Amino acid sequence: MSGGWQRDGYEAVIGLEIHVQLDTASKMFCACPNRFGDEPNTNVCMVCLAHPGALPVANAEAVRQSARVGLALGCRIPAASEFSRKQYFYPDSPKAYQISQYDQPLCAEGSFHVPGEGAFTVRITRAHLEEDAAKMIHAGGDAGRIQGSAGSVVDFNRAGTPLLEIVTEPDLRSPEQARRFLTLLRATVVAIGASDCDMEKGSLRADANVSIRPIGSAGYGTKTELKNMNSVRFLARGIEAELERQLGLVLAGEEVRQETLHFDPATGGLTSLRSKEEAHDYRYFPEPDLLPVTQDPDDLAALAGQLPELPVARFARLTGAGLPEATALLLATEVELAAYYDELAGRVGDAKVAANWVMGELQAHLNAAGIAADASPVTPARLAGLVGLVVDGTINQTSAKEVFQALVEDPAADAAGVVEARGLAQVGDADELGAIVDGVLADHPEEVAAFKGGREQVIGFLVGQCMKASGGRADAKALQALLRERLSA
Ligand SMILES: [Zn+2]
Repeated sequence: MSGGWQRDGYEAVIGLEIHVQLDTASKMFCACPNRFGDEPNTNVCMVCLAHPGALPVANAEAVRQSARVGLALGCRIPAASEFSRKQYFYPDSPKAYQISQYDQPLCAEGSFHVPGEGAFTVRITRAHLEEDAAKMIHAGGDAGRIQGSAGSVVDFNRAGTPLLEIVTEPDLRSPEQARRFLTLLRATVVAIGASDCDMEKGSLRADANVSIRPIGSAGYGTKTELKNMNSVRFLARGIEAELERQLGLVLAGEEVRQETLHFDPATGGLTSLRSKEEAHDYRYFPEPDLLPVTQDPDDLAALAGQLPELPVARFARLTGAGLPEATALLLATEVELAAYYDELAGRVGDAKVAANWVMGELQAHLNAAGIAADASPVTPARLAGLVGLVVDGTINQTSAKEVFQALVEDPAADAAGVVEARGLAQVGDADELGAIVDGVLADHPEEVAAFKGGREQVIGFLVGQCMKASGGRADAKALQALLRERLSA
């Protein structure tokens, strides 16, 4: 599943460019609020509207958050980096250039490990800070796209929003690896608190550079760029479709053209947006209105020391505690679920028991209710009360499910109270169980004879009958033992 994409003697070569909108209070080069969803063109000023003579000032918090992300990606943070102008003309850029970084980025040469089955490592080329463009809204077109639209308007609220662009080396070998990498990267940035990485809102956007080459070849084929995929799933599907398209061309003896493509998740189709620009088309030069960004080694060491537990470390901790890899990976990438699990495991004192409850009853309840773990009425404290009753043998698994449902339905209830009120305490007492077993055996002479004649599997039926007779409250283990004892007597 996590192996490489290989067809007809060709393999996939994939690199990603990920734009993360940083969650700072103000924009990258001015004091305007950095906020999503306000009335269009209300969070604007002379700087982000590019009035002549208005001067930018770099947002120190954006620089700090970028350095934290860079450290988490194993990057080198150079002592000095530089802003550059990237020239292009488009209505979403009032300056007709974007302030970005070119040959001296904030973060360089990192590497990011994706653990689990078929683990792999992706080299990070760089992560640089830049400003986002304004948002173009295309009216009258197909699903807001420029093709076929009657006209366009521009919302400058987004102009100047701090963007961290993370560029990987072409180390990914399948759409599935791209999906796994982006999922973990996103969880890492969320854990750091640098961005909410909400792909639907556009605070994380991913472009993929895709090419194919003969298996084992060291060179690269011509690559195409898939633009602005807005979900991890669509990213993987878009890459898959593009790999198939390129393979079809190559097998037909045609050439892959360097171009930028749009993937339509509704139809699964790819359309060409434009032929791809080269870096020299942008005429980069150092931004004369901004000083270089300098980093103090002591400050960087302090930042590194203040990073929270990152998903990769969490994965290692959880597998170390004996959890299966799939469980550990899910908990590593879902921040709220992980926090819930940690609190439950701490209260219960058993990693595996806590994980079973989180992955089982809790997940089913969260999915059904469509809520995150931190919004569940069954808090870790309440669930720990229930788990404790199972662990100490007060109730069995069947009753535990009923109690869990009661906790979901009544936020004021506690597990011990529900067990008491409903009489769910387990029947483990030898006398009481003995009476149940004797009754069932007396009612089923044929099955008893069959068991004694060698049909061992009949015991399952008899256990079921006894469990039913106990109202589902029998201690399953004690019941089994007692049944065998009576049958072999
Ligand atoms: Zn502004």
